[in-house]
Amino acid sequence: MNAPQKPASRAPLLSLDAAMAELLARVHALESVETVATFDADGRVLAEDLVSALQVPPNDNSSMDGYALRASDVTAPGVVLRVSQRIAAGHAGHALEAGTCARIFTGAPMPDGADAVVMQEDTIEVGGDIHGVHIQAVPDAGQWVRRAGEDVTRGAVVLSRGHRLSPASLGLAASLGQARLSVMARPRVALFSTGDELVMPGDVPPESMKPGAIYNSNRFFLRALLRRMGCEVSDLGIVPDQRDATLAALKTAADHHDLILTSGGVSVGEEDHIKPSVQQLGSLDLWQIGMKPGKPFAYGTVRRDAGECHFIGLPGNPVSSFVTFLLLVRPFLLRLQGVPIDSARALPVATRLPAHFSVERADRRREFLRVRRNAAGGLDLFPNQSSGVLTSAVWGDGLVDNPAGTTIAHGDLVSYLSFAELLA
Ligand code: AMP
Ligand code: MG
Repeated sequence: MNAPQKPASRAPLLSLDAAMAELLARVHALESVETVATFDADGRVLAEDLVSALQVPPNDNSSMDGYALRASDVTAPGVVLRVSQRIAAGHAGHALEAGTCARIFTGAPMPDGADAVVMQEDTIEVGGDIHGVHIQAVPDAGQWVRRAGEDVTRGAVVLSRGHRLSPASLGLAASLGQARLSVMARPRVALFSTGDELVMPGDVPPESMKPGAIYNSNRFFLRALLRRMGCEVSDLGIVPDQRDATLAALKTAADHHDLILTSGGVSVGEEDHIKPSVQQLGSLDLWQIGMKPGKPFAYGTVRRDAGECHFIGLPGNPVSSFVTFLLLVRPFLLRLQGVPIDSARALPVATRLPAHFSVERADRRREFLRVRRNAAGGLDLFPNQSSGVLTSAVWGDGLVDNPAGTTIAHGDLVSYLSFAELLA
């Protein structure tokens, strides 16, 4: 018979906001920088301000296929103007003869003297002796003209150090003539999973799995998430639930990495070796957060010859591991790469949406429910919110951030965070 257990102590857990602030306060941007082709820079973080050496667009140019003219030459609809030149994109025209117009195409530079474009749909070509055009609408000066420098002025800081490059910003950098960009080094992350029950897919077929064995799923999404965050991943595989093996894995990993990321083994059971091992090799600075799923999250450092290596221990339950990665590891990695985020901006801006479900029992922890937007503009709840049910994270397209101690009635406005933004 087991001796009667004393009720577990219920000291208040660290709040997610406090944990985030602590975590971000401990991480500083890596110092190494590298130069990469702009083509390969999606998702990387700029290491220096990008200052434009030219204006974009370089000249006033037409935003329509049509006719460039002086607006003052057309005082009433029906004026006929002679077409005195033709200017296609990539070719320069010459000064516009008085009382004439220029055939012009989208992107072509405006000829000197012209101040407006009439789109070809508002004109009728006139044949005969002169090649002319009948202007059907009175133009306003400046119409259908894109001004030189309206996108970028010369000398402007177009993208700042710390900007995380997106496909659109690669295009903008290219528009300034940048074929290569100076970016922050990729964080080197050592990843390992703990758990004697874990088996790698491919090693044992489903029909031969021993009782108690499960496939290692965390390793797959964590590796993919780290790669998306621009990390270089050393996957150290599965570490058995033994103190010596855990110590050895942590020591090896600390040497050549910026971060050690583990999953599992960070709770309070006798088979959980991560916490005491990190304490032995360095320090454990954060442990257990008032969030659901994700309570067993841990942060610390592991000493090495020179300095120390960051350590983050994620919970073993797959949904807990996934959610804590999105909410805590992602901002940590952004900051490690020099993105200037603080704890107030670590999460995307939540959208307020109506719950098309109810939560009758309030939880003492801040809860992140797996939900999905529906066609009626509301949110549906995945029926099984267990932290072991990874289907919820695939079925769902985001999380409801529900404050501690809060019930939800059907129709209540709740805070929704989309996976799309949390994964970006
Ligand atoms: P732990 O935090 O080690 O106590 O693990 C909590 C739960 O998550 C247990 O049911 C484990 O079997 C499960 N788990 C731990 N690691 C993984 C993993 N890599 N893939 C799938 N499930 C895991
Ligand atoms: Mg375990």
